[in-house]
Amino acid sequence: MVTYDQFTGHCQAVLERMAQACQACGRSPSSVRLIPVTKTHPFEAAEYAHRFGLSAVAENRVQEALLKRPLAPAGLRWELIGHLQSNKAKQALQAFDVLQSVDSAELAARLGRIATELGLTREVYVQVNSGDDPAKFGCDLAQAPAVLEALLPHQSLKVIGLMAIAPLSDDPAVARRTFAELRRCRDDLETRFGVKLPELSMGMSGDLEIAVAEGSTCVRVGSALYGSRPVL
Ligand SMILES: *Cc1c(COP(=O)(O)O)cnc(C)c1O
Repeated sequence: MVTYDQFTGHCQAVLERMAQACQACGRSPSSVRLIPVTKTHPFEAAEYAHRFGLSAVAENRVQEALLKRPLAPAGLRWELIGHLQSNKAKQALQAFDVLQSVDSAELAARLGRIATELGLTREVYVQVNSGDDPAKFGCDLAQAPAVLEALLPHQSLKVIGLMAIAPLSDDPAVARRTFAELRRCRDDLETRFGVKLPELSMGMSGDLEIAVAEGSTCVRVGSALYGSRPVL
C-alpha cells in the first residue's frame, strides 16, 4: 500500500481532477463528494482517509468491513458498494451506514424489515445496471421502479439516489451513455413517484470526469488513491 504522504498527494490530484471537471461543466466543486474505496487494502487505508479529513469510505464486501471497521477511526461513515446476498442483509445493516447496492425488490423488502426489527435507519441507493453489462450487478433499467417501490414503504430506509458502474471499455462513449442513462432513470423515477433522489453515485478512478459531466454527486475512487489492488 501507499504511504500516507503518497496518499495525500493522490487525494489532492483526484480532488483537482474533480474540480477541473466541475469547472468544465459549470458545476460547483462542492456538489460532488469523493469517497475512497478501501477494499482489499489494510484498515490503515480508512485511517488515511479520516486523517485527510474525508468523512466516509466504501467497501464491497460485508465480511471485510466487519473485520476492518473496529480497527479504524470511529468517526468514519462506511458505505457498501458491492453486491449484497440477501442472507447477509442483517450483517450488512450492522456493518454499514449507507448501502449503495440495493438491486432487487426482494432485497429491498428484506433490508427494510430487518432494519426496522433492529431499530436502525440507513440511507440507501438503488444500483442500476444502466450500462446493460452482463458482468455487472444492479437491476435492469426497467426494474428500477419496482425496486424503488419496494423501498419506499420502509421508514427504516431512506432512498437518496441511484448508483451505477460503467462497463469496462476503451471507448469513453460507453461510460458517458451509462451515466446519462442513470441520470435519465433518476429523473423519471422522481417524476413518477413524486420523490427526491438527489444522489447519483457514478464515476471511478478512470472515468470520474465523464461522470461529473453527467451529473455525478459521488465518485468512488480506489486505485487512483491507494495504488493498484492486490490480485485476490
Ligand atoms: C472497486 C470499485 C470502485 C473503485 O474502482 P477504481 O477503479 O479502483 O477507482 C468503485 N466502485 C465500485 C463499485 C467498486 O467495486
